[in-house]
Amino acid sequence: FTGVHGNAVLLAQKFLAEVLQEGCCAVDATAGNGNDTLFLANCVGQTGKVYSFDIQPSALEQTAALLKENGLLERVQLIQAGHENMEKYIKEVLRAVIFNLGYLPGGDHAMATKPETTIKAVEAALRKLEPGGRISIVTYTGHAGAVEESRALEELAAGLDPKVYGVLKLSFINRSALAPYLVLVERKVTYENLAS
Ligand code: SAM
Repeated sequence: FTGVHGNAVLLAQKFLAEVLQEGCCAVDATAGNGNDTLFLANCVGQTGKVYSFDIQPSALEQTAALLKENGLLERVQLIQAGHENMEKYIKEVLRAVIFNLGYLPGGDHAMATKPETTIKAVEAALRKLEPGGRISIVTYTGHAGAVEESRALEELAAGLDPKVYGVLKLSFINRSALAPYLVLVERKVTYENLAS
C-alpha cells in the first residue's frame, strides 16, 4: 500500500482497485451515502456491473443521486434488501465486495449492521467470490453489537482455509483502539502455493 496516512475506507478501496478491471462485477454490501458504490462503479467501467445493497431507502436514494451526478447510475443495480440476501439477486461471480460496517454518520444508529446478518453476508460473498477476487471489510467497534460483530467476523476470517484464502487484519496501531480497522480477504488464483 501507499498512503497509510489515509483512512480505513480509502485503504479498503485500494485493496479492491488492484484487482478490478473493466467488465468486472462488484458488490457494495452497505451503500450508505454511496461513496463506495461510486468508487466501484468507476473501477468496473462501462461494461461492468455493481450491485449495491442497503436496508434504508434514504441511503439508496442518496446513492442514486451521487451516481446520477457522476453519470454512472446505469452500471449499478441498487437493491433495498439486507446484504445477507445477496445471493438471491446476483447471478455472476464477484471480483470485489466492500463492506463498510456500522451506521451512517448522522443517521439512525438502530440501522447499524448486526453480527448475525453481517456473518451471513460475508459467507455469501465468499461463496460468490471468483479466484483472484477480494473482499474488504471496514470494521468498527463503536455501535451497539459492534464488539460481537467484530469478534464473530474475526473468528470467521481466522477460520478460512489458508490454501484457498489469504486473510489480513490491518489496524492503525498508533491510533485509538476504537479506530476502524480492516479485514481483507483474497481468494487465491491457484491453491498450490500455500504460504508456510
Ligand atoms: N459505504 C457507505 C458510504 O460510502 O457512505 C457507508 C456505509 S454505513 C457505515 C453502513 C450502512 O449499512 C448503513 O447505511 C446501513 O443502513 C447499512 N446496513 C445496515 N444493515 C444492513 C444490511 N443487513 N444489509 C445492507 N445494508 C445494511
